[in-house]
Amino acid sequence: MQILFCTSEASPFAKTGGLADVAGSLPEALHKLGCDVRIFMPLYRCAREMAPDLLPLGNGRTLRIGPHDYHVHFWQSSTPSGIPVYFLEKDEFFDRAGLYGSPLRGDYEDNAERFIAFSQSVRHLCEAAGWFPSIFHLHDWQTGLVAPYFKTNWRHDPRFARSATVFTIHNIAYQGVFPAGFFPLLNLPPTTWSFQGVEFWGQCNLLKAGIVYSDFVTTVSPRYAAEITTSDFGFGLEGVLKEREKSLRGILNGIDTDIWDPGADSLLPANYTAEDLSGKKTCKLALCRQAGFSESSFHFPMLGMIGRLAAQKGFDLLEKILPDLMKLPVNLAILGSGDASIEQSLQAMEKLFPDRLKLTNRYDEQMAHLIEAGSDIFLMPSRYEPCGLNQMYSLRYGTIPVVFATGGLENSVRDVFLHPDSGTGFKFTRYEPQAFLEKIESALEFFKDLRKWQEIQKRAMARDFSWAMSAKRYLAVYDKVWGKRNP
Ligand code: ADP
Repeated sequence: MQILFCTSEASPFAKTGGLADVAGSLPEALHKLGCDVRIFMPLYRCAREMAPDLLPLGNGRTLRIGPHDYHVHFWQSSTPSGIPVYFLEKDEFFDRAGLYGSPLRGDYEDNAERFIAFSQSVRHLCEAAGWFPSIFHLHDWQTGLVAPYFKTNWRHDPRFARSATVFTIHNIAYQGVFPAGFFPLLNLPPTTWSFQGVEFWGQCNLLKAGIVYSDFVTTVSPRYAAEITTSDFGFGLEGVLKEREKSLRGILNGIDTDIWDPGADSLLPANYTAEDLSGKKTCKLALCRQAGFSESSFHFPMLGMIGRLAAQKGFDLLEKILPDLMKLPVNLAILGSGDASIEQSLQAMEKLFPDRLKLTNRYDEQMAHLIEAGSDIFLMPSRYEPCGLNQMYSLRYGTIPVVFATGGLENSVRDVFLHPDSGTGFKFTRYEPQAFLEKIESALEFFKDLRKWQEIQKRAMARDFSWAMSAKRYLAVYDKVWGKRNP
């Protein structure tokens, strides 16, 4: 099976969120299953820095976007473990500080053109590499257009005739919606401008393009796959997804168990295992120091929280419970950056409780590892969470999660009350401040009983979230769609 991952980000070359983790790790796991997997992504400024051994691939090519011609080049490198990575070089589009925008100005104004160019160039990349894969695995709106290009055009080319497309939705809230005036730039036949095509309430919707025209749609957890067919979670695309229900599957993301391994994590001051948790105390002490808590507060339970500061992540609930939460003997270490209004509100809360709440307001890998290891309890009250990685990291690090029962949080955390013998965390089922606070209080009650707590920690740490299982599920999807196209 030959698979090309078409993605707008992949670790370690470029990352803004979970997509990069998936696009970095899943190819490795598929490779171990014997697949010939390769990755194709834009050559951002950060990617150029991370891939110093770039080799040119073929001569330049010309893309036509609306009335404009763009000359582009392809480059080749590989992941640290040897998976080939192809890059699209178009500095005018990608040699920038951010991937999709800047914190001050928001999304780049030419994002449509940037990702139309990337999607169109997939075909040219295959020609330049002389490689025509069985499966084009597309991710999120940035590559959604590849699906209609395939269906309406590329498939007439015998070199692509046997190939199939799989489209993965990592977060349905981000749809790549552009005004109708952009339609001519997409280079699609007029028939695709309909409610059964890329048109969405009079605008172009590139995520919808991927959903409608790909051979199969996946998303990143079974629960989220069901949720996005409902109006509460579908962000307007629930009807479109309902129509594709037979070709829609949720596959829980794995985590990179080499990078996230408390027993060998080089970013930690001490390592530990489920059998010997003593190193976790050293991590907690280091976290207290690094985040700025007094060492005397070491004995308080440490609550940790990591994530993009986005409305999705449940900071509204946190804000509402904070006065009551801070009456309890706990410390709260938060790591995150993003939405300016959430940053300001967290900074205001930090001023109110300066000894007990510490916000590290930046992107910081080392701090993320230290919070996962040094906290006792991990908070993840996301309003919706397609999969979520941090709750799986926290389980693996014996840091017991308190989560809202949605999406991948529902699929990866087993509630201690519902499953006393196999529970790994605490889940609340009503998205309300009081329900969140009550679950934190329950967790703190359990925390007082060291024996009980360590039992939960051991169960959590024993859960297998490696990519091996998920990769097999993706392989089953590839086999199915490829089999359909090649009976
Ligand atoms: P999302 O994709 O919605 O951002 P996920 O939980 O799926 O959420 O993945 C987020 C990834 O980004 C995780 O690897 C998490 O550790 C990391 N991350 C998020 N914010 C930060 C930050 N401020 N510093 C370091 N890592 C972060």
